[in-house]
Amino acid sequence: MPRFCARCGAHEGKEMKLIGSLCPKCFLEIYGLVSIPSRITLVICPKCGAAYVDGKWIDYDLYGGEIRVLIAHELSKSKPIPPIDRVEVEEIEYISAEEPLKVVAKLKGIYKELILRKDYVVETLITKRPCPTCIRRASKSFKALVQIRGLPTLSKSMRIKVRKFLESLGMNIIRDIVDIEETKNGIDLKLSSPGTARHIANALARKFIVKIVESYASIHRSRNGRREGKLTLSVRILSTEPGDYLVIDNKPYVVISVENSYIELEDRNGHRVRITPEKLMHRVRAK
Ligand SMILES: [Zn+2]
Ligand SMILES: [Zn+2]
Repeated sequence: MPRFCARCGAHEGKEMKLIGSLCPKCFLEIYGLVSIPSRITLVICPKCGAAYVDGKWIDYDLYGGEIRVLIAHELSKSKPIPPIDRVEVEEIEYISAEEPLKVVAKLKGIYKELILRKDYVVETLITKRPCPTCIRRASKSFKALVQIRGLPTLSKSMRIKVRKFLESLGMNIIRDIVDIEETKNGIDLKLSSPGTARHIANALARKFIVKIVESYASIHRSRNGRREGKLTLSVRILSTEPGDYLVIDNKPYVVISVENSYIELEDRNGHRVRITPEKLMHRVRAK
């Protein structure tokens, strides 16, 4: 005796197996695949992008900043509607990238040899909460600033070189970096140790042609008479390339070539001069 769907009357056959007393279509319409929340909340550190998942913080690198990975993980925890055996998240598509984020979650349910699919719209709220590592870093007081600038300006290629240099610093130095801020003019490093600030400035001086100016912000004297304040090291890196225009002593020059020991310049009349980087450093006007 052939069985049929109690709701729409479709007959069971090779192509269509009933789930209990319903055909898959009716089953999905009435029950769906899972009891899924219409809204989920993710917790992400605004500073380093780490995410709080299943009671612990995972690094940004682990999910590559791909919010969909986190959403899929959350949804994969939803309970399938009995008698569906298990449910998988097949795909997450963004509907709206503005907050609250809206996605379509394409889910696949498995019941015996049957595969059922249903889409769910899920709203995702992102709660920003600093992770313990970032809290620890920020609470270490900021005691020194290294301002990296270019002379006359920090060129794109020099900025890349500086970034590479910063990435190559040892862990014992990186630990003292409270914050790195990239600005239009250069890169600011906030440090928890004046000694490390000097160390970085000296390492920059070994690698590039630099001029360092040291100053203290908000100087006051402690009870035992010592100077206290934020050490600021302004590190200007000579950043010229052939083809650049420089203004030296109010006269414009074109850079012809840049060598380690000299820089060749040409003035408006086609006269070429060579100048040492150190001399250039002190005579070129910063923009
Ligand atoms: Zn039916
Ligand atoms: Zn963090």
